[in-house]
Amino acid sequence: MPVNLEGCRFFIKTFGCQMNENDSEHVAGLLIRAGAGKAPSPEESDIILVNTCAVRKKSEEKIDSFLGRLSPLKKDRDRVIGVLGCVAQLRRGELFKKRPEIDIIVGPDHYHELASLLSQKREGKLLKTSWNRVWHEIGSAETFRKSRVSAYVPIMEGCDNFCAYCVVPFSRGREKCRPAAKVLAEVQDLAGNGYKEVQLLGQNVTSYRDQETGEDFAGLLRKVSGVEGIEWIRFITSHPKDISPEIARIMADRPNICRQLHLPLQSGSTAVLERMNRGYSREDYLEKAALFKGLMPDIALSTDVIVGFPGETEADFEETLSVLKKVEFANIFSFRYSPRPRTAAARIADDVPLGIKRKRLIILQEVQKEIQLARNRTFIGKTFQVLCSGESQKDAGRYSGRSEGFQVVNFGSPRDVRDRFVDVLITGCGPYSLHGKALL
Ligand code: SF4
Repeated sequence: MPVNLEGCRFFIKTFGCQMNENDSEHVAGLLIRAGAGKAPSPEESDIILVNTCAVRKKSEEKIDSFLGRLSPLKKDRDRVIGVLGCVAQLRRGELFKKRPEIDIIVGPDHYHELASLLSQKREGKLLKTSWNRVWHEIGSAETFRKSRVSAYVPIMEGCDNFCAYCVVPFSRGREKCRPAAKVLAEVQDLAGNGYKEVQLLGQNVTSYRDQETGEDFAGLLRKVSGVEGIEWIRFITSHPKDISPEIARIMADRPNICRQLHLPLQSGSTAVLERMNRGYSREDYLEKAALFKGLMPDIALSTDVIVGFPGETEADFEETLSVLKKVEFANIFSFRYSPRPRTAAARIADDVPLGIKRKRLIILQEVQKEIQLARNRTFIGKTFQVLCSGESQKDAGRYSGRSEGFQVVNFGSPRDVRDRFVDVLITGCGPYSLHGKALL
């Protein structure tokens, strides 16, 4: 089937995590290769694609409201509206009933054929959400990257862990790993094209295993860190039960692996962690955090926390707060529990009242805010290397970027330093960002 989208303009709206950001860059790259062009807004496009996230009820609600706003656009011209990502995979045909304006629904295992599907003249609606356990390679040449210096590099997809609250095994399927040779080839290609930072991506990168050689994540990380030209390597997401002392040693040993680790805690109570089917206890988590901090005292640890999981008592919640205080995370992502379809937790009573969940979330975020503020104050007067991503969105005339610890740094500079590493003297801070001036 010839793939020709010549003259078509597309717009992609992305919700959710870095995996979705990366998938949207793949989809954009594939459509551009088929002849389509990017449109700056849904109004100016022929194809509108909504790449969705199903991780929480609230994210699904946001997407539903966005889809509702697209409805009038369908009337003024013959546009194609497509839904991609986790909600597409999870809700499938249900979405057509709820939102008749949707034309196509395509799950993550079918993005490689999306341009072809869009170029076919067809009657009626199209649904492509079957599973596949085979990795479909989409390389650098087919990826339209937003940044010229920082790139996502997917290494695996899906999850076999079945945490009781999590929809990912149902929305992204079982784990499949990208061959290590393909990962390395992409990183080398990026280095050759001037990229300075790579983020190795997967729902659970620490489960990585090369199908041919059996190489694990530690082995892959060591090889990636050997690629010349890449100055910062990050990876996300790690599972506390799988992250090994060897990974900590490699990070401590290799200067181009950022001293930053996102290690989802979810709860500080062993009883809750057991019910969540997380596979580690509070003590295991604290031991792993101490191991990384022991080897790299300046490491920036971040985490995810769910409050109000079924059966969570006040004492359980206090235990979560105490882990935050002990570990002193650089950043946290915190959420109220909401039952997700098909998960084990959805079959038990959601018994923590909404008011209590709300109260706990506020307390948790206040405690963390104080921790971050105190931590950030210790950086005043220090100089950080920052990879500048562009002008600050909040502060015209200033620049913004990330430090090695993945902290947002807004700073003044006499010269344009976009897409460059720059030394920044930290002169002030808030709980969520650092401020400073470029030392040029
Ligand atoms: S490890 Fe658990 S929380 Fe993470 S993606 Fe897998 S099932 Fe979801």
